[in-house]
Amino acid sequence: MQNAALNAHGHPLQYVRIHVTPVALSDALRALPQAGFLGTNLTIPHKQAALHFVDELSKEARLMGAINTVAIRDGKLHGYNTDGPGFAAAIKEVFGVELGSLRVLILGGAGGAGRAITVQCALAGCPQIIMANRNSGKGEDLADEIRGQLGQQIMAISMDPSEVAEALATSDLIVNATPLGMKTLDESPLPEGTESALTGHHLVYDTVYSGGTTALLIQAQEAGARSANGLTMLLHQGALANEIWFSEPAPLEIMRQALSS
Ligand code: NAP
Repeated sequence: MQNAALNAHGHPLQYVRIHVTPVALSDALRALPQAGFLGTNLTIPHKQAALHFVDELSKEARLMGAINTVAIRDGKLHGYNTDGPGFAAAIKEVFGVELGSLRVLILGGAGGAGRAITVQCALAGCPQIIMANRNSGKGEDLADEIRGQLGQQIMAISMDPSEVAEALATSDLIVNATPLGMKTLDESPLPEGTESALTGHHLVYDTVYSGGTTALLIQAQEAGARSANGLTMLLHQGALANEIWFSEPAPLEIMRQALSS
């Protein structure tokens, strides 16, 4: 996707994948300016740790507690998070609605991508934000932090079936931000018995993009709900990273085509 964008815009550059162990992350990032890099993306498990190794941090990345994009300017590392805004752009594209108009339930909302999505919902002014986490203490800590920083009320619940069913009844958009669905035989992130609370009024977004469908997307289809997998979020977070590096509109359709080929 990024190489297709570089080619389309005639940049004599290459996007390469580099395997870095957690202990080498700081040194690897520090070596990038001298090695002639213009920027980098970061993925599992580096997004949170990298926050501590950049020189400048965007306000959103600080709130999201993670960076997935670094731009190198004048030898300095500038950290950004495009997962959150990429998610908002994906919701707009696939469902044709502004994120800020929706009541949202985020399954796994206190994880890496989940936190970026939860913060993005708060920044967008969603009228209701509920995070469901198997570790409800982690969710409550994050809800307190976001309330303190942005003044936005966020409800943290557990994965208890009665709590999740109640949250489903008052939500428009259901988001899976857990890794459940990445493997073919994974179960749905919705606790057993709560799938009957899914209805045709719901919008269901599964951030998983590793090919095929997921148990949650099958449940959404059975309920008559509109649904989508995480490919559009992947596309938009990549396009936004490209725009940070080059300060020009990314060739979105070329990137989309590359992603699907
Ligand atoms: P992560 O930081 O490990 O967070 C995963 C979250 O899910 C944690 O809160 C974890 O809870 C929870 N979780 C894990 N297994 C669970 C289970 N069996 N039941 C309930 N909750 C469970 O992972 P991540 O990097 O955020 O990735 C999460 C998902 O987002 C993955 O599917 C990934 O593909 C997707 N993603 C998509 C995009 C995109 O562009 N589409 C971008 C980034 C990530 P604990 O805290 O209790 O462990």
